[in-house]
Amino acid sequence: MEKLPFERPIIKKLNTGMPNKFGLKTEYNPISHIDEVPVNQLIAKYSSPLYVVSERTIRKTFREAKRAFDTRYPKVQFAWSYKTNYLNAICNVFHSEGSWAEVVSGFEYNKALNNGIPGKHIIFNGPEKSSQDLELAVKNESLIHLDHFDELYSLIEVSSRIGKIAKVAIRVNMDAGIYPQWDRFGFNYENGEAWDALNRILLNDNLELVGLHTHIGTYIMTASAYGVAASKLSDLAARIEKKFSHAIKYIDMGGGFASKNTLKGAYLPGTDTCPSFDDYAEAISSAILRSEIKPENLPMLILETGRALIDDAGYLLGTTLANKRLADGRRSMIIDIGVNLLFTSFWYEHKITPAQTFTQHTEDTTIYGPLCMNIDVIRDNISFPLLKKGDHVVISRIGAYNMTQWLQFITLRPNIVLIDTDGKTHVIRNNETNESMNAFEQVPAHLIQKK
Ligand SMILES: *Cc1c(COP(=O)(O)O)cnc(C)c1O
Repeated sequence: MEKLPFERPIIKKLNTGMPNKFGLKTEYNPISHIDEVPVNQLIAKYSSPLYVVSERTIRKTFREAKRAFDTRYPKVQFAWSYKTNYLNAICNVFHSEGSWAEVVSGFEYNKALNNGIPGKHIIFNGPEKSSQDLELAVKNESLIHLDHFDELYSLIEVSSRIGKIAKVAIRVNMDAGIYPQWDRFGFNYENGEAWDALNRILLNDNLELVGLHTHIGTYIMTASAYGVAASKLSDLAARIEKKFSHAIKYIDMGGGFASKNTLKGAYLPGTDTCPSFDDYAEAISSAILRSEIKPENLPMLILETGRALIDDAGYLLGTTLANKRLADGRRSMIIDIGVNLLFTSFWYEHKITPAQTFTQHTEDTTIYGPLCMNIDVIRDNISFPLLKKGDHVVISRIGAYNMTQWLQFITLRPNIVLIDTDGKTHVIRNNETNESMNAFEQVPAHLIQKK
């Protein structure tokens, strides 16, 4: 055997950091680039703070989810949950991957139409649909998911008035082992309300029952809850088959898959604890496949996954404004990202990473936003290195809900940039300006200040 070459031994210091009561420091590397585009360059060009969305990550995540379901169930359709992120560019990435649209208001419904989605591929959910909304949805042959009896009666009135059959499903709420139960939306399964609604629909000539829908909650960390929910919907479908000889076209399991964010107070990070798409797909597909539904009537499976498909693709870039010691000696840091731009900081311990190399020495730090409001806390307590004024930070996994639930408050909302799959950047929503904000307002003549 050939003698192996001699390698000089080296002694390397392991920089694991000192454990504290929150565990070991796990972040070693700065996030200096997003999809190969330097963070510094993005901020120099589009200013700070800045939302950045990676098209590559959206497509990758979507394909992962789709594969998990396609390999386990014969007919799968995703419908993009508009309220999770309804920037047109983002919706269109999902639509180009084959997603339908899932909307919960007239505003979102029209957005989907403007994005070129055919009416029959729009799912209209939510407790608030006006008569005009319903009329438009019936004319466009959209899938109307009823939330309550009053809406059922309005729809019967609208569809008979315009003489067109409405395609409907009902939203069913149920005990799937998730508490508190989301029983405010839809018709209850256990008390028979859902069955009652279904009978009324099936006995009405102006309505065509096409599906059954549920959305058991959000950030659901137990995949088995979906199995329970899918079984209950399948039982309803089988019962309809038996009594009315009617086959529904689809079962819509809603959204609610957890993204990999870490909930406040969670002991382990979300990356370790959240079920995978495969776990959810396994629970749902086996529940439907082993149900009493006849094989020739096997319904399409619709998923309205929001959060889990977009969270990872979104970043919020910001800048350090100041460091300061609080009265008790604790270190704090102020950045230019406030809770008005990061609504999800009320629930999540967002991952915050420096954008440039940093010292290995960290200290428990409170990170504040720039708002003149006590609630403006981005992280209560994070083991963080000292950054200088002007240094940049990157907040990861912010793609879901922040760009829709944000608030225009104290500061103006910044640019949103999409990095396409070739690494090119595109502004997909312009920053607000004093001018654009004032355009919404009017001052009565007698209140105009004379200069
Ligand atoms: C919000 C919502 C979704 C998306 O939920 P996620 O938790 O983001 O996956 C899907 N369906 C309905 C009806 C919703 O209200």
